[in-house]
Amino acid sequence: MTISFDEALALDAADPLAHCRERFVLPEGVVYLDGNSLGALPRATAASVAATVERQWGGDLIASWNKHDWIGAPQRLGDRIAPLIGARPGEVLVADSTSINLFKLLGAALAARPGRTTIVSETDNFPSDLYIAQGIAGLTGAKLRMVEADAVAAAIDTDIAVVMLTEVDYRSGRRHDMPAMTAAAHEAGALMLWDLSHSAGAIVVDLNAAGADLAVGCGYKYLNGGPGAPAFLFVAEALQAELISPLPGWLGHHDPFAFEPDYRPAPGISRFQAGTPSIIAMAALEAGLATFDGVRMTEIEAKSRRLSDLFIALVDEKCPELTLASPRQSRASHLVFAHRDAYPLMQALIERGVVGDFREPDLMRFGFAPLYNGFADVWRVVDAIAELITTRAFDQPRFRQRSKVT
Ligand SMILES: *Cc1c(COP(=O)(O)O)cnc(C)c1O
Repeated sequence: MTISFDEALALDAADPLAHCRERFVLPEGVVYLDGNSLGALPRATAASVAATVERQWGGDLIASWNKHDWIGAPQRLGDRIAPLIGARPGEVLVADSTSINLFKLLGAALAARPGRTTIVSETDNFPSDLYIAQGIAGLTGAKLRMVEADAVAAAIDTDIAVVMLTEVDYRSGRRHDMPAMTAAAHEAGALMLWDLSHSAGAIVVDLNAAGADLAVGCGYKYLNGGPGAPAFLFVAEALQAELISPLPGWLGHHDPFAFEPDYRPAPGISRFQAGTPSIIAMAALEAGLATFDGVRMTEIEAKSRRLSDLFIALVDEKCPELTLASPRQSRASHLVFAHRDAYPLMQALIERGVVGDFREPDLMRFGFAPLYNGFADVWRVVDAIAELITTRAFDQPRFRQRSKVT
């Protein structure tokens, strides 16, 4: 049984997170269901970036490294992300991109398990994760073994140095059982590395409760840090002294301003910093993280579940031509639906102000960001899809033209 548009409006009125929408700037008439690819613009970002540029850089110049604690941004922002992913202060560092952080942690993990020569991951993992694993394997004489998601646990043997999985599949939205998989890795003596790109800021993640060793994740998706925002990495406190980054830059040195010729790792998480942080991007990410102030991840996950449940129920009722390609149970905050004409349908939806994205081969993907998406949004989107399918208004050559970014 689904609900009417008025009932959806009533759900928004009663929603304890409804006020968070004010923390974002969204264009009039747009329903944005792509926060899992690029989070919406927080209202505070523009002023915060402007102040960093004009007052700090422009006014205080190089003194800003101390005066405005630019130098502490990677650790400070890491400590703000920590509670969102079940980490302790000092376990998260903001730096580089997700891909580069993967390289650093995989390299460190391989070196920490001498004698073991295999990284195991799943074939459907995000390609960059697999390419990076192939790259570090090629450099170190290790190899990457890729298996189907359901076969990962059985593939973990005593030659595995590190198990690398993305908790929430970027395409299907399927969610791994983090505690169970981490335990399986540990049982075989392997380290467990989680990619949280589609988890952080969307669902409850508890790295420490799961006993996870390593993690990485994206700053520009649900964390609203802006296009190309710095990413984060997590190293469990107990492992930090043992792991060495394969990209040992000066800001990961014990004493960067001693300018010593030989590398000595900094204590703690800072050893995973390579070079100078991108301060203007850090200012934008800090504003993105502030959109989570006063909100618990349990509330966010609960609303995400209600939004996606409603979406599925409405599609079942109004758009039987769409096939849910996400699992009904173990899923997170985005959904994919298969349709023969997924590409032109999505382009036609975008022209009508409904923004999701297309994923090969025939998938329409919709991400639910509970801080700014609501129940009436979901209702409008499904209504728009149903109308497009009925009228076939998507069936035009211009909607079939492919752009570089899909
Ligand atoms: C988005 C995403 C990335 C992106 O990596 P970048 O280095 O930021 O381009 C990597 N892995 C996964 C699983 C992702 O979802």
